[in-house]
Amino acid sequence: MINFPRHACRYAEQLAAECEQFRLQLEPDVREFDEDDDYSADPFGETDEASGVHGLKQRFEDRVLVMTSDSCFMNCRHCTRKGILESADVVRSDEELQDCLDYVKSRPLVRDVLLSGGDPLVLPDDEVLRFVEAFASLEQVDVVRLCTRAPCVNPERITEDLAKRLRGCGKVWVNTQFNCAGEVTPEAAAACARLVDAGIPVSCQTVLLAGVNDSADAMLDLFSALQRARVRPYYVFQCDPVAGISHFRVPLERAKEIAAECADRIGGLALPRFVADIPGSRRKTPIEEL
Ligand code: SF4
Repeated sequence: MINFPRHACRYAEQLAAECEQFRLQLEPDVREFDEDDDYSADPFGETDEASGVHGLKQRFEDRVLVMTSDSCFMNCRHCTRKGILESADVVRSDEELQDCLDYVKSRPLVRDVLLSGGDPLVLPDDEVLRFVEAFASLEQVDVVRLCTRAPCVNPERITEDLAKRLRGCGKVWVNTQFNCAGEVTPEAAAACARLVDAGIPVSCQTVLLAGVNDSADAMLDLFSALQRARVRPYYVFQCDPVAGISHFRVPLERAKEIAAECADRIGGLALPRFVADIPGSRRKTPIEEL
């Protein structure tokens, strides 16, 4: 039985009833209890306070991640933060936000700020804008990335007014997640259109999930649907080595086959990079290098 979080909306429940590939991402599975030494609850050390700043994580020299929320519209069973989200350090007070701004200012190479969680859009618009405007006001910051699955799972959350206010900051890019073509419904496409029409670039990060989208046909359907919605397919990720999600992991050789077949069958503008996020690595690693 699916456990919808309190921020889930009726739309997501309906989508789960109608789209099996979406439902499979949400249904608990007994295999989540499988133990594997290669998987851990926090493979990227996100619960460490390595940066020394509450709610701010830095793994790469040009970008930082700011935790804006510890809740989400979904409980995706493949979520990278599934075991750590509820206890995550979240930036809430003005003082904590100022500490994050000071950190960025002290690192001139940082040019890209990811607002993540959970989902930043569980917050009211004014709260979202508080984060966006604060980081966009820093001259060194070129991009404020809003990482949200709202276009897919709560399209009504993307109002014209929100899109217009985000556009007003001049630096916002939206990174979203669609994992199958069935998720790109007319409602979801309309939500993406509200962002794109306002002038906000929208990119998609897909997760390669066994039993959900692990075929070239499924991926190509998705990439085409995204392109019709004017969303750039950006990355396809191998599942992260997070405890409790190993049953979603697609074997590397199979992932490479899917990536190669996609490259043979669709033009570059609709073709994302197939990558793996490897703990300790200083970049996302193209799977053909693994
Ligand atoms: S939408 Fe993203 S953050 Fe939320 S549960 Fe799913 S994968 Fe995790």
